Amino acid sequence: MSTKQFDVVVIGGGPGGYIAAIRAAQLGMNVACVDEWKNEKGGPAPGGTCTNVGCIPSKALLQSSEHFDHAGHHFAEHGISLDNLKIDVAKMVGRKDAVVKQNNDGILYLFKKNKVTFFHGRGSFVAAKDGGYELKAGEETVFAKQVILATGSNARQLPGAEFDEELILSNDGALRIPAVPGKLGVIGSGVIGLEMGSVWRRLGSEVTILEAMPAFLAAADEGVAKEAAKVFKKQGLDIQLSVKISKVTKGKNDVTIAYTDAKGAEQTLVVDKLIVSIGRVPNTIGLNPEAVGLKLDERGAIVVDDECKTNLPGVWAVGDVVRGPMLAHKAEEEGVAVAERMAGQHGHVNFGTIPWVIYTSPEIAWVGKTEQQLKAEGVAYKAGQFPFLANGRARALGDTTGFVKFLADATTDEILGVHIIGPFASELISEAVVAMEFKASAEDIARICHAHPSLSEATKEAALAVDKRTLNF
Ligand code: FAD
Repeated sequence: MSTKQFDVVVIGGGPGGYIAAIRAAQLGMNVACVDEWKNEKGGPAPGGTCTNVGCIPSKALLQSSEHFDHAGHHFAEHGISLDNLKIDVAKMVGRKDAVVKQNNDGILYLFKKNKVTFFHGRGSFVAAKDGGYELKAGEETVFAKQVILATGSNARQLPGAEFDEELILSNDGALRIPAVPGKLGVIGSGVIGLEMGSVWRRLGSEVTILEAMPAFLAAADEGVAKEAAKVFKKQGLDIQLSVKISKVTKGKNDVTIAYTDAKGAEQTLVVDKLIVSIGRVPNTIGLNPEAVGLKLDERGAIVVDDECKTNLPGVWAVGDVVRGPMLAHKAEEEGVAVAERMAGQHGHVNFGTIPWVIYTSPEIAWVGKTEQQLKAEGVAYKAGQFPFLANGRARALGDTTGFVKFLADATTDEILGVHIIGPFASELISEAVVAMEFKASAEDIARICHAHPSLSEATKEAALAVDKRTLNF
């Protein structure tokens, strides 16, 4: 069998890989993408962690559980009454699976549309050869002039509490729990722990989140983290900080977690299911990096420069498998930038304007610097904040929790950070991202006409608050 030749072979079909493949094909390159993810029938399921066990299925379940929560707790205030409210978990999970499949199929369609050759199976290095690379792509051997590695990440295991996906769950198992657990334990209060904890809390689980760090949501602005902790506590999420896990023991149908609490007291928690969400590790399993001398760092991440170039000529790497935030949109931006650099263009990723979102209720979103970062860096800044309580649309929605906060340079008024906790924060943050990309000032946003009534008026008012001239508060 003759070796198929490609300008570019992308290994990994998650948001970093499939987007890189499409962009490279748009730019006229002959491209293949290799991805090994299998659906339950063993068929291809491109889209990576994000599509299969990450962003998309988690948001599908968050949506279902939010509907349930609203029906149970908020419909009555609208004059809507429901008797005998029930959740059919199998149906909810089935809907989530259908949403995932739509996305898998959508990517396969996009590959066809853009003439990207798709190989279902593992991609790995065989050898550097003839100025390019010989690779395995599933069962086939292929030759690539250039290679993009987008092999993603895997959930980090807690020693002594290895995932069995029945009782001790990674994100994978957490997204297909077959019935609402009476008691759910979560180790790690990061984005994934909070989102998964929220899903099952809304459906009726008693949720305890154990966090090793002393600060809650340390990456977020302190004001937002404080508000979030208050709201989540009120909702019934038991979040315990400064916890040290001593032992995790599996029973027949439950898990016992022995730990030391913040006061140094020994505690025991017995739960029906335990989600372990203590971060993710870069994945190069099966890539055979040794065959070509690909350099990894001590965390197992592929070492890249600012342009995503590895130590090997013509080999690039993007997404979770390299440094930087493990976010789907960061992976996508890197994928586009690499394809454009290959084509001689000037692809660019601005790490300073990558938005962060946590899809809890209320949602949390931010871009740029936090107040504590600006203080630590000695930057003189002004802050302006506007509560959703004073926003007409939020009142009409019946969702007035939270606020929008602007941080602007004290001298130039340039926006340095925007932090939102409240309804549709994930959508509202885009205005702030655009503003920061264009190096806008708080005054620029304050002078832009925003539709009324809309949640985005809170953004305008927070910008006005920087100059202490809010109109509605
Ligand atoms: P991945 O999506 O992990 O894709 C890598 C792909 O490569 C996989 O399909 C894998 O099977 C394949 N692969 C690996 N090695 C090989 C090989 N040798 N040969 C062939 N194929 C291989 N991010 C957000 O921005 N927003 C969110 O809301 C969000 N929610 C999340 C929720 C959860 C529960 C989790 C776990 C993650 C979430 N993330 C979210 C993070 C996001 O999923 C990742 O940042 C993103 O998927 C990274 O994309 P990637 O392309 O680098 O890797």
